Amino acid sequence: MNLISHWIDNELVDGVADRRGKVYNPATGLVSAEVVFADAADVDAGVAAAAAAFPEWRAAPVTLRARIMFEFRDLVHKHVDDLAKLLTAEHGKTLEDARGEVARGLEVIEFATGIPHLLKGEFSEQVSRGVDTYTIRQPLGVVAGITPFNFPAMVPMWMYPIAIAAGNTFVLKPSEKDPSASMLSAELFAKAGLPPGVLNIVHGDKVAVDRLLEHPDVKAISFVGSTPVAQYVYSTGTANGKRVQALAGAKNHMVVLPDADMDLAADAAVSAAYGSAGERCMAISVVVAVGDAADRLIPMVTERMEKLAVAPGDSPGAEMGPLITGDHRDRVASYVSSGLEEGATLVADGRGFSPAGFEDGFWMGATLFDNVTRDMKIYQDEIFGPVLSVVRTDSYEDAIRMINDSRWGNGTAVFTNDGGAARRFQNEVEVGMVGINLPIPVPLAFYSFGGWKESSFGDHDIYGPDGISFYTRQKVVISRWPDPIHRGVDLGFPTNR
Ligand code: NAD
Repeated sequence: MNLISHWIDNELVDGVADRRGKVYNPATGLVSAEVVFADAADVDAGVAAAAAAFPEWRAAPVTLRARIMFEFRDLVHKHVDDLAKLLTAEHGKTLEDARGEVARGLEVIEFATGIPHLLKGEFSEQVSRGVDTYTIRQPLGVVAGITPFNFPAMVPMWMYPIAIAAGNTFVLKPSEKDPSASMLSAELFAKAGLPPGVLNIVHGDKVAVDRLLEHPDVKAISFVGSTPVAQYVYSTGTANGKRVQALAGAKNHMVVLPDADMDLAADAAVSAAYGSAGERCMAISVVVAVGDAADRLIPMVTERMEKLAVAPGDSPGAEMGPLITGDHRDRVASYVSSGLEEGATLVADGRGFSPAGFEDGFWMGATLFDNVTRDMKIYQDEIFGPVLSVVRTDSYEDAIRMINDSRWGNGTAVFTNDGGAARRFQNEVEVGMVGINLPIPVPLAFYSFGGWKESSFGDHDIYGPDGISFYTRQKVVISRWPDPIHRGVDLGFPTNR
């Protein structure tokens, strides 16, 4: 059995704990590897390596750090297919989708290659006579990342390239369900010239997370995952005096106004609801159809759903793969039963589906509900599977109220040909990322990504300019050099005349 070890000081380490987790191939349902689970001592070893590497890494010239980022960028670019294959094998998403995931991670690495520019401070000359003021951005020290199963390469890359380029050292606790992409990325980073101890990986579950949350040498935590765990990580980490950003779950609404281009809206709804089997925090899970939009949209959506190729991610032409585990598939299927019991209209039922020859995999076909109402569990909960709900409403005002009443605020979209309506929507909606005639509004690496309300805890979005701000502390220096003017004791405030 393939054993996935920790990565500490650029070496594979099995650690002292004897707990292990299973990694599955979701398409076949077979166990493909075991992963070591850290206990507190293993986490401490990772943090100690990062702490020991910090002084030297912080002192390395920013141009040298940038050069290593460039090398890393080239190696990841060369290994896109290898990373994608690991993602498909452990997560189940299609190879094409997996390549897209790596490409989005690469964009953050590319952003981080600009670190000499990004760390520049501000300078004001002559704020008083002979006195200048300037700012310096300095790294925090050891920072940690805790990441979810659904983007095993990209979400860690939202974090460590920027943190490390800024001069921090890093301990990553990736999802225990699909840890291999992080391991290959760390190996490539070492080949690029990253010194030992700068990026460390410890695997595991709550035990590892809890130790990171309380470890006195960990200065900041970036978390991405479900809302209950994000809340826990945020409150525990901040109570322990750490800087924490915790990005969380979602229920993303796509509003379709009656004047929308229905072909475009149907393409978007199907792509954004069923891409990656709905296991994206930016997936569309609710279509809010205004006026007669639903009657025109639903036949167009079902026509597209019937043509979807649901198959193992590495098979030619596959458009949607399996879910991450059997338990998760069963949980998603139980929501379909609950929707039926609560009176929603089941237009397409994906339960019980599996491609021929893959009956033991964690399969679920594309599922569509119509006439969903706000009191139903399928509307209220994050299902995180290929289940799309259509809610019908009479007015734009009701649609916007629905979104603004939702506890989540990650992404949303409006489909309309009316520029005024779109502008009003972008102004009024209480959601962090907004798409106009575009269903998944994920900002590129030179902007920052973040939701509102229970989709994100903490003051910083992730990557982009907020990433630089999160992983650095600003220092302000007020400087004066001895000169003939400033002589003699003066207990008063300077008057600047
Ligand atoms: P999860 O919350 O179960 O796990 C995330 C991480 O936390 C993993 O590393 C896991 O090992 C750890 N963890 C799990 N339970 C824990 C506990 N009780 N205490 C401490 N640590 C714990 O999330 P997941 O199922 O891996 O990922 C899916 C979720 O992530 C969805 O809710 C999705 O919306 C969300 N997500 C959000 C974003 C975003 O940017 N907002 C991006 C991707 C995924």
